[in-house]
Amino acid sequence: MIKLHDKEFKPYLKEAEIQKAIKRVAEEIAVDFKDEVPIFVGVLNGAFMFIADLLKHYPYPSEVSFVKLASYRGLTSTGIVETLLEVPEHIEGRSVIIVEDIIDTGRTLKELVHLFSNTNVKEFKVASLFYKHEVYNGEYPIDYVGLEIPNKFIVGYGLDYNEQGRNLRDVYQLNHTNMINIVLFGKPGAGKGTQAAFLKSEYNLKHISTGDVFRYNIKNKTSLGKLAQEYMDNGDLVPDEVTIKMLRDEVEKNPEAKGFIFDGFPRTVAQAEALDNFLETKDMQINATIALDANDEILIERLLARGKESGRADDQDEEKIRNRFEEYNQKTAPLRSFYEAQGKFFSVDGIGEIEEITERLRKVIKTLEITD
Ligand code: AMP
Repeated sequence: MIKLHDKEFKPYLKEAEIQKAIKRVAEEIAVDFKDEVPIFVGVLNGAFMFIADLLKHYPYPSEVSFVKLASYRGLTSTGIVETLLEVPEHIEGRSVIIVEDIIDTGRTLKELVHLFSNTNVKEFKVASLFYKHEVYNGEYPIDYVGLEIPNKFIVGYGLDYNEQGRNLRDVYQLNHTNMINIVLFGKPGAGKGTQAAFLKSEYNLKHISTGDVFRYNIKNKTSLGKLAQEYMDNGDLVPDEVTIKMLRDEVEKNPEAKGFIFDGFPRTVAQAEALDNFLETKDMQINATIALDANDEILIERLLARGKESGRADDQDEEKIRNRFEEYNQKTAPLRSFYEAQGKFFSVDGIGEIEEITERLRKVIKTLEITD
């Protein structure tokens, strides 16, 4: 086990296995390009080790150059990418082999394709040491792949966690045994968002509220927002496939999180099953689902008061509120037995002072014995 910043990582791939894959990639490229002199373009910073070893194994004349991109991740941004080091000069008519350390969603690759789109290169090929086939959007072919890996957060051999770990010869994966992942469960107005705000700072967790993400997207008129708006306005649930994909994206955006508070998700059995499957691919799991109990009449009062303050359409109309409760009773309430069957269901009284309720939640979290 090694430690980088605040996180522990356990061994995943040995140097010898990595080197074997690189040698094979070099040989594959050599077969295709033996009759010309290709330009290998490394994508900084992550690919610096891979491109060095790749070229040591490349048996014919070649040239080397680099590009550098930086991506930014906001609440729901699609990963805006900025160019820090431009396309090399004099590449017209030449064959270019992009050398990447890892391809996951494909966002960076899309930007690279765009970057080279007006350069009139003869051929544009992509070689990546690691390839996460489970999350790749499949937009462009990956011509040469070192190793296919599941969707884990890895460091070493050029890959970093907040800039550290690039110098490691082996590759390591994030150790999740101390992670806390909690589902906050309860009807609209039960106080999930309020409590999440306290717990998130106390336990240093990432709070994902699906309702907030939808509202953010509606406000910013994104395609996701347009999809969700009508359902939300009527107090209906947004279709599972839309919500599940959005949730996955939100988790992916926070690979370094110490854990997550899921607020307003899952709301259907299909969502809960998808969440379990998705977390399993990342070596993660839900530790507890904690329900905040409160009766309908109190909740309606709270929601109408909140609606006046926030202007939220679905909080202002009693009929829409009742429809949301109906959705809850039909689709969300069955999750209780889903989590009970896993021994993960807890409930606390959701009526009282905010701090009292936080204390009730704290007590449940203490019994989980996951914090170090
Ligand atoms: P909330 O802020 O959690 O009360 O969510 C507001 C609205 O967003 C809901 O009434 C749904 O229309 C939509 N929504 C939020 N989370 C989900 C989810 N997990 N599944 C489907 N729809 C959701």
